[in-house]
Amino acid sequence: MRDVIIIGAGVTGAAVARELSKYNIDVCVLEKGEDVCSGTSKANSAIIHAGFDAEEGSLMAKMNVRGNEMMDDLCKDLDIPFKRNGSLVVCIHEEAKDGLQTLYDRGVENGVKGLRIIDKEELRELEPNISDKAVAALLAPTGGIICPFELNIAMAENANVNGVDFFFNTEVEDITVDDDKIYHLRTNNGEYKAKYVVNAAGVYADKIHNMVSENKIKIVPRRGDYCLLDKEVGGYVSHTIFPQPTELGKGVLVSPTIHGNLIVGPTAIDIEDKEGTNTTAEGIEKLTAKASDHVKNLPMRKVITSFSGLRAHETHHEFIIEEVKDAPHFIDCAGIESPGLTSSPAIGEYVGAMMKKMMNLEEKTNWIKTRKGITHPSDLSFEERKELIKKHPEYGNIICRCESVTEGEIIEAIHRPLGARSLDGVKRRTRAGMGRCQAGFCSPKTMEIIHRELGLDYEQITKNGGKSTIVLERTKGEK
Ligand SMILES: Cc1cc2nc3c(=O)[nH]c(=O)nc-3n(C[C@H](O)[C@H](O)[C@H](O)COP(=O)(O)OP(=O)(O)OC[C@H]3O[C@@H](n4cnc5c(N)ncnc54)[C@H](O)[C@@H]3O)c2cc1C
Repeated sequence: MRDVIIIGAGVTGAAVARELSKYNIDVCVLEKGEDVCSGTSKANSAIIHAGFDAEEGSLMAKMNVRGNEMMDDLCKDLDIPFKRNGSLVVCIHEEAKDGLQTLYDRGVENGVKGLRIIDKEELRELEPNISDKAVAALLAPTGGIICPFELNIAMAENANVNGVDFFFNTEVEDITVDDDKIYHLRTNNGEYKAKYVVNAAGVYADKIHNMVSENKIKIVPRRGDYCLLDKEVGGYVSHTIFPQPTELGKGVLVSPTIHGNLIVGPTAIDIEDKEGTNTTAEGIEKLTAKASDHVKNLPMRKVITSFSGLRAHETHHEFIIEEVKDAPHFIDCAGIESPGLTSSPAIGEYVGAMMKKMMNLEEKTNWIKTRKGITHPSDLSFEERKELIKKHPEYGNIICRCESVTEGEIIEAIHRPLGARSLDGVKRRTRAGMGRCQAGFCSPKTMEIIHRELGLDYEQITKNGGKSTIVLERTKGEK
């Protein structure tokens, strides 16, 4: 039996796992996907929001601002890239300028530092490609950009190194509680028992909550479509450009990504299907039109891929992070929609403090705070790279030409704690397949490396687990 079981290995579950790994307790994470970062945490705008959007005094606002504050130190400790590029909420109608003041006031109330309303001349100086219709903007210098995969993976790896076990392809199907108040979690891989449970199941957090509580909640998947543009136009804007928000959210943004692409999106459409991550032509048309209101001559011919993500929208648009009233020792992290990525370290800290008190936890003396990321030869100087390749020639063998990813990086990704087992697992850890050709060239080569390093047959290698095999059967040679 475990002390704590966390359901879900997205950013929320990973952040809670890392925080609980500081204590002398037995913790595990159950994840239905084949890897960490299988849900919403893999498909979002990857913005570290400043914190002026969420309602004053809400838990969402507190988590947003605290998460934003924590990001510099956390990213240094976990060796992941993060940049405060600043965000701009752009007003395109003279009569809507008051809305910027409302956001400014809310931001100040929430504790966001450095906010400023700027006029159109300053805005144009900062962003030459801003729409000619722009009349003013709210500048938030603390807004930033991050790699959502690396944040999720790094927190999980660090938790794992500190003793948290992760079980993948393990879906919680039912939960019961016995007379000793022990939770029994029935999964497709047998039963797991724990004294405490943390529900970090993203869009499925309602399903998990409703297994133990009479006070039902409902999470509506709110789909957002995106286009990702080639690095050639990654510098089209330097800040994250937002429109003024509506009741459906923060609107369609245009932003550089931390790895130098340009991202445009998301739309916002409420759907029923919790797996409904298909993009639609209508969605893409809508986001192009909306983004073009704020940024002129958007280079949409440079799109290299489109994708969509599902926000875990709860009716009250507030994070639910609490012990469930009629299910003692069962903690919900539900309704974690945007700004959930930004808030994740703060949610981890909050749940950690809550459980420390509830469980009377003692801190470990040997907790490892830092984690070293994968060696990327393209980040090294010429001399350093030469030295590395002399010792380890696999770092001189380029597998993904678009993103300059080497065999050495892919081998590292496979053999790290919670290492990659699929093409997407490799992609999220190294960026192999993330570039202009979208894995057209490197997939077979990456499969060869997975086959060799993990001893998997080609027919067993998947894109992202489950039935997503790539090779169906051999047509030549031995069967
Ligand atoms: C379009 C869009 C844009 C966004 N933009 C931003 C942004 O720019 N900045 C920001 O801060 N936030 C943003 N967000 C929000 C952010 O992405 C989410 O809040 C965050 O990723 C949620 O993480 P999570 O761990 O709670 O959920 P998830 O990442 O969905 O993780 C939940 C995990 O639980 C697993 N699971 C579910 N059911 C079960 C089960 N029964 N058994 C076992 N495992 C289970 C799932 O497989 C999944 O891996 C955006 C979201 C969307 C959709």
